[in-house]
Amino acid sequence: MIHNFNAGPSILPKEVFEQASQAILNFNNSGLSILEIGHRTPLFETVMEEARSLVKELMQLDEDHEVLFLHGGATTQFMQVPMNLLKQDGVAAYTETGTWANKAIKEAKLFGHVEIAGSAKESNFTTIPKQLSFSKTAAYLHITTNETIAGTQWHHLPYDCGVPLVADMSSDILSRTLNFNKFDLIYAGAQKNMGAAGVNLVVINKTILGNAERVIPTVLDYQNHIKEKSMLNTPPVFAVYVAMLTLRWLKEQGGVAAIETINQQKADLLYSTLETIPFINLPVAKEDRSLMNVVFTMKDEMLEKEFLQYTKDANMYGVKGHRSVGGFRMSLYNALPLSSVQYGVDVIKEFAAKKG
Ligand SMILES: *Cc1c(COP(=O)(O)O)cnc(C)c1O
Repeated sequence: MIHNFNAGPSILPKEVFEQASQAILNFNNSGLSILEIGHRTPLFETVMEEARSLVKELMQLDEDHEVLFLHGGATTQFMQVPMNLLKQDGVAAYTETGTWANKAIKEAKLFGHVEIAGSAKESNFTTIPKQLSFSKTAAYLHITTNETIAGTQWHHLPYDCGVPLVADMSSDILSRTLNFNKFDLIYAGAQKNMGAAGVNLVVINKTILGNAERVIPTVLDYQNHIKEKSMLNTPPVFAVYVAMLTLRWLKEQGGVAAIETINQQKADLLYSTLETIPFINLPVAKEDRSLMNVVFTMKDEMLEKEFLQYTKDANMYGVKGHRSVGGFRMSLYNALPLSSVQYGVDVIKEFAAKKG
């Protein structure tokens, strides 16, 4: 058995893999594959509707919040958000917390002015900014709730910040209980915590739309997708189906609060083990550590090579750190069971004992 700690695309529940495989061969006993049916048929429309309503239910969204499944990955949202929300001469406030936030900032600059409301650059992105300052006239404030590469996470959310709150939740979506109605726009690529690559979840408070004063191409205008119930054009049907199965699975686990409890246990177990090992370095400030992506390095580069090989031999997959940070990253997404973290911890302790 392989223990998959990959950062993305990443582990999904086994049941989801089984059901998705079956749907490719014979979808809901229709005698047809999900890959060959029309998207405007009851067979698929029920999938889209169930996926959207599961998101509403799991996030406890109010009437103003609309749920969309769109193409293009979170990277498309870096551009689509400012295109829909930011006027040409307007200002948007962004927090600069790492690689992903910086990519979002770069795209926003194409559509208006960007103000940095808070930055973690000085700490080399090992912290989350605590004091934010930005114009009250900003079109919105953008945060990246979990920085997948740096291994940081917002634990005190800037709710009620006075302007619409926008969040990239790609790597911690549905992993913890947040007050989702306090966000005006949430987006997340599915491939980390809620499905297969190729689809984005977008949750929008529709009352903030329609003020950008620019011509928006049809397929990039959120209002058109809302009107068409997320079926403006052919959706990525298989990816939506996998997301729907993953959402069903999450509901069966007891929902977001239940998975949060397990996620907290997983992270506590791993961090507390790493803290006891003298040659391991945890760069992220303790209070800003991510529960999803645990980043660590070793004081000696030779040890890093040995450790990497050791984990490979032990059937641990995806523990190598991102090339920009080095070291290691173990991702603990929703579908990763506590038993895999326990296994990983045992392997790490075994390695440490050999080196001690
Ligand atoms: C992975 C990731 C992205 C990029 O997602 P794509 O679907 O590849 O475009 C954006 N933001 C965060 C926080 C991520 O973890």
